Amino acid sequence: MRVTSLASGSSGNATLIEAGDARILVDAGLSAQLLIARLRAAGCDPATLTGIALTHEHQDHVAGALTLAERYRLPLMADARTLAALFASPARQFAEPRVTVDEPVQIAIDPHPVGTTWTHLGLSISSFPIPHDAAAPCGYVIATSAWRVGILTDCGALDDTILRALRPAHLLILEANHDRDRLMKGPYPAHLKRRILGPTGHLANHETAEAVHHLLDDGPRWLWLVHLSKTNNTPELARAAITTRVGARRMRAVHLAVAPPTSGPCWDSARLFA
Ligand SMILES: [Zn+2]
Ligand SMILES: [Zn+2]
Repeated sequence: MRVTSLASGSSGNATLIEAGDARILVDAGLSAQLLIARLRAAGCDPATLTGIALTHEHQDHVAGALTLAERYRLPLMADARTLAALFASPARQFAEPRVTVDEPVQIAIDPHPVGTTWTHLGLSISSFPIPHDAAAPCGYVIATSAWRVGILTDCGALDDTILRALRPAHLLILEANHDRDRLMKGPYPAHLKRRILGPTGHLANHETAEAVHHLLDDGPRWLWLVHLSKTNNTPELARAAITTRVGARRMRAVHLAVAPPTSGPCWDSARLFA
């Protein structure tokens, strides 16, 4: 199993997961053109993609989804409410102009209610509900018979369902959106601060740290901090919050990386112990 972050943060989010015959994107929040370039740079021919799974319909997660799905005949996997919101949203403007206006739109949808598990070319894909201001937002645990990756972004608050879902994941991809103090003292208008801090907004560093503290056991874990705010966070603050809560001794078993807005990091199960 190989997992590559292609984009992270409010400018766009996309994660490539490759295992066996399956090659899926979780979210496609950049223009199709940029995503294609980043896929190629990551060693993945976009024509070999097999599907796109969506966490929710916000632009920074779906900007290129329709264009990619149409061009490469990829099924869009998501809750029916997310798909309905996507098809009704301005994301459509990112779809490229058709050759003729009469040409039918050919986008395959593959709806799965949040909270269910399905298989896609040998990959097991489980979604779980999360609180966020979208139609049917979810996180994912995506697994082969040997490896599991958990993805949680755009989450207003943690609960037991989320932690239970993520606990078995070898690779944890977790939102660390903002440092609370930095957001409070920062330049954002009050209504935006309220939205981000609220129960359907985004996870703060200290909340992510609390999640990591609860999720760790004795085994090694790989942890990526993602969806960092450029204004209200820094990689150093995010890392420090995790280390402070978890403790330096337990952090020795954790391989920690912070995802930049551009490509990287990459996790390859074949190379973990090389
Ligand atoms: Zn987002
Ligand atoms: Zn969102």
